[in-house]
Amino acid sequence: MLKTFPKKHLAAVFMAGAAISVAAIFSPSSDVEARRLSVSLDLETGQVTEQPASARLQNLSESAPEPVIDETAELAQEGGEENLESMEAQSLRKEIVEDIALVAEMEQKKQESQLTWTDYLVKSGDSLSGLFKKAGFSDGLMLSVIHGEGEADKIQRLYAGEAISFATDGEGELAAIRLQRSRLESLLVERTDTGFVGERVIREPEVRNTFAEAEIYSSLFGAGQSAGLTDKLTMELAGIFGWDIDFVLDIRKGDRFSVVYEELFLDGEKIDNGRILAATFHNRDRELSAVLYTDENGVSDYFAPDGRSMRKEFLRTPVDFARISSNFNLKRRHPVLNTIRAHKGTDYAARTGTPIKAAGDGKVILAGRKGGYGKAVVLQHGNNITTLYGHMNGFTPGIRSGKYVKQGQIIGYVGSTGLATGPHLHYEFRVNGAHRNPVTVKLPDAAPIPKARLAHFRAATNGMLAQLETYQDTRRITLARGE
Ligand SMILES: [Zn+2]
Repeated sequence: MLKTFPKKHLAAVFMAGAAISVAAIFSPSSDVEARRLSVSLDLETGQVTEQPASARLQNLSESAPEPVIDETAELAQEGGEENLESMEAQSLRKEIVEDIALVAEMEQKKQESQLTWTDYLVKSGDSLSGLFKKAGFSDGLMLSVIHGEGEADKIQRLYAGEAISFATDGEGELAAIRLQRSRLESLLVERTDTGFVGERVIREPEVRNTFAEAEIYSSLFGAGQSAGLTDKLTMELAGIFGWDIDFVLDIRKGDRFSVVYEELFLDGEKIDNGRILAATFHNRDRELSAVLYTDENGVSDYFAPDGRSMRKEFLRTPVDFARISSNFNLKRRHPVLNTIRAHKGTDYAARTGTPIKAAGDGKVILAGRKGGYGKAVVLQHGNNITTLYGHMNGFTPGIRSGKYVKQGQIIGYVGSTGLATGPHLHYEFRVNGAHRNPVTVKLPDAAPIPKARLAHFRAATNGMLAQLETYQDTRRITLARGE
């Protein structure tokens, strides 16, 4: 396959791989509040490679010396020794593999070029039969497609907004159907000698790690936008640090953050953001860092560099978009009974139907009516802590005594059952049976990385954290020089 590869193109690929390390990192202007660049991070070695898109394109168009084809061909075959390869070798190998695939695709396209493709957008109300008719094919043919091998029958599941394409050969016979479900997923049904065969085709987006940083002038979201972050990504960033920083009360002008996150590309075009891999937040005089780590069970979560969880064992507030309508107060006059009666929890006013989340992992010990609390859930957690959720409108299906719930899992919805003047959540937090103020009680940290896993955790995350540091330093030097 490599023999048929256009030599000039391979040379250009080789150069692109080699040129990455000399590409400029930052734009020289200093008045830009925030900036981004594409980076490749090697988690094992901590090596970093910057690759601004413009530098890549330039180098592809430049003439290049004769490449060492033998070596690169070897690299392309050494899939089993990935960890030992250098960053350059890996990216070079990847490019070559991609280009071999490209050539294969071109050859296939040549064969397919005898086929004529006709595309239709699936609209609401369209049926497969109707689309077959539009393309000039019968219901009988449609049935033999549906009854084909593999996933051919899945062609019946059509959704508005998808695109369906029919391929006819030189004789006008149906040769293939492609149903494009999304940018990444399609269903291809092809005619073979033994009938139609369907296959789900999934494309993997290319993941590029990107660095961004911003200083907060007015708001967190304003800073995020100036750094090129979507609001969704900024929300995720706030979610990571939200256990330690109150983004409403604690944020000050001059606070800043740095973040390395994934960008997903398809055919060179950005289609989405991936995960935040590491981030640092400078809030007034403290600096918090978090790094994403996936444990041996495949569960990913954010941890401080020393292995402490970024999360607490409990959510401070089990409802979003709510305001405190009544505080914990042991001498309160009850609004319905009009007598002095301790208010042993916190009330959060919210619309009826607002989801209520389990504050922490635990076991349901009550999900039902409980006097003045109305419909209520009580959860038993570790450390002899229980939480209670009152006046609920209803429970999430499956929430009943004996069931285990995870932190953040929706257990039911805000209502006004029991003794309540309006829709709100009454939330109680008890330690060893004693009521504590849910707003001020000190919340224990969620479980840290177990001691036995610490070495693995450090090995897996040190490179990423070092890179975050390197970017910040480079940025500081650039600023100090007044560039
Ligand atoms: Zn209450």
